[in-house]
Amino acid sequence: MKTMGLIGGMSWESTQTYYRLLNQKVREQLGGLHSAKLVLYSVDFSEIEALQQRGDWDAAAQILTSAARSVQAAGADFLLICTNTMHKVAPQIEQAVSLPLLHIADATANVLLRDGIDCVGLLGTRFTMEQAFYRDRLQGHGIKVIVPSDAQRKVVHAVIYDELCLGVINPDSKAAYLDVISTLAGDGARAVILGCTEIGLLVQGSDTKVKLYDTTEIHVNQAVELALERV
Ligand code: GLU
Repeated sequence: MKTMGLIGGMSWESTQTYYRLLNQKVREQLGGLHSAKLVLYSVDFSEIEALQQRGDWDAAAQILTSAARSVQAAGADFLLICTNTMHKVAPQIEQAVSLPLLHIADATANVLLRDGIDCVGLLGTRFTMEQAFYRDRLQGHGIKVIVPSDAQRKVVHAVIYDELCLGVINPDSKAAYLDVISTLAGDGARAVILGCTEIGLLVQGSDTKVKLYDTTEIHVNQAVELALERV
């Protein structure tokens, strides 16, 4: 089994989901007492969030490249950045280390294409929903991306930082997310990407008839396939 290198803590609420799912999936695949081989570098999310707010992505990239170097030095064979948003600085991280990066948007696009979905709604932070680094990556795979209205994007973003990253699960926010998901489906999305690693804590597939693609689960599944050299 290969050793996975995780850059996490963004937020730790979703990193614990990664840790649990990676181990569960390895046990499912190999049985018995098998568990995931991994190295985790968990950052202080407050520092990263302040840099996001200021738009100082270079400083955020420096923190994450330094984390990636530590993970490489600790023996990881490949890298996962356990957040959609911080894939904004994926190019700088890839330059700083020789480890291959399992990009969360590529992993998600692979599953969408496998399922024949060519038009998808995207939920995530404002950065993920509005900036080119994520949407263009999906569109580069031939997938059309629809995002919520400005007012809905505000709500989706605020719930991530003010609630989910703090471990707060609020039924009103769940209802608001389900409304946004219905609107996206009404606008033509054939499925919706939960493009923030905490959203799965609030909304699950059983909550709606719209097909949901949880990026945390997808990232984990492909990481385990790669670790077990099944791809
Ligand atoms: N975990 C989130 C994501 O997947 C948001 C936190 C962050 O800004 O990294 O985008």
